[in-house]
Amino acid sequence: MFVTLEGVDGAGKSTQARLLADALGPDTLLLREPGGTPAGERLRDLLKDGSIDLTPRAELMLFCAARAELVDRVIAPALEAGRHVVCDRFVDSTVAYQGGARGIDPGLVATLNAAAVGDCMPDRTILLRVDTGVAVERAEGRCESPISDRFESEGASFQDRIAAAFERIAAAEPQRVAVVDAAGGVDEVHGRIAEALGL
Ligand code: ADP
Ligand code: MG
Repeated sequence: MFVTLEGVDGAGKSTQARLLADALGPDTLLLREPGGTPAGERLRDLLKDGSIDLTPRAELMLFCAARAELVDRVIAPALEAGRHVVCDRFVDSTVAYQGGARGIDPGLVATLNAAAVGDCMPDRTILLRVDTGVAVERAEGRCESPISDRFESEGASFQDRIAAAFERIAAAEPQRVAVVDAAGGVDEVHGRIAEALGL
C-alpha cells in the first residue's frame, strides 16, 4: 500500500507518518518530500533556503524534479517489491502550495505533477485537518522546521489558501483522500488514521 500524508505545516504529518509506518510493519518505507535521493536532498536544501529567491514556476519544477527522482529510484521499486510506502507530503502539497497558494495555473501544476509521478499515485491519502491556530502553535513548538522557511513568512492568507486547496482536493477525490481530524493527542489521531485505512 502507498499512503501519503498531507496538511498544513504543523498539522502533525511527520509525527503521524512515523506512527503509521511503525503500524504497517518493519518492512515499511518511510519517506518525506522533498528528499529521499541524493539529488532530492540537494533540492530540499535549496528549497529550504528562503534566502534564495525562486520564481513560482521554478519552485514548482524543482519540487517536481525531486519527486520524479523519488518515484523512479525509490517509491516505484519499493512498491514493486511488495513493500508498504508512507510518504510525508506528495503531489497534493504541490497542488495546494504552488497551485492554490502561489496561484500557478492548476493545469500546469497537474501537468508537471503527472510528468513527475506517472501512474505512481498513492492508494490512499490522509489529509490532516486542523485549526490554523493549533497548527501554528504546534509548528512553533517544534525544534526543527522542515521546509517551511520559504512558506512560513507568507502570512495568514497564504496559509488559508493552502488549507482551502487541500479541502478542494479531498472533496474532488473522496475515494483516495480521507480527511482526518488532527485535533487531540498524538495517539488519538493515529487511531483515526488507522481506522480510515482499515488497519
Ligand atoms: P508537520 O509535519 O505536519 O509539520 P509535525 O508532525 O512536525 O507536523 O508536528 C508539529 C509539532 O507538533 C511537533 O513538535 C509535534 O511533536 C507536535 N505534535 C504533532 N502531533 C501532535 C498532537 N496530536 N498533539 C500535540 N502536539 C502534536
Ligand atoms: Mg513535517
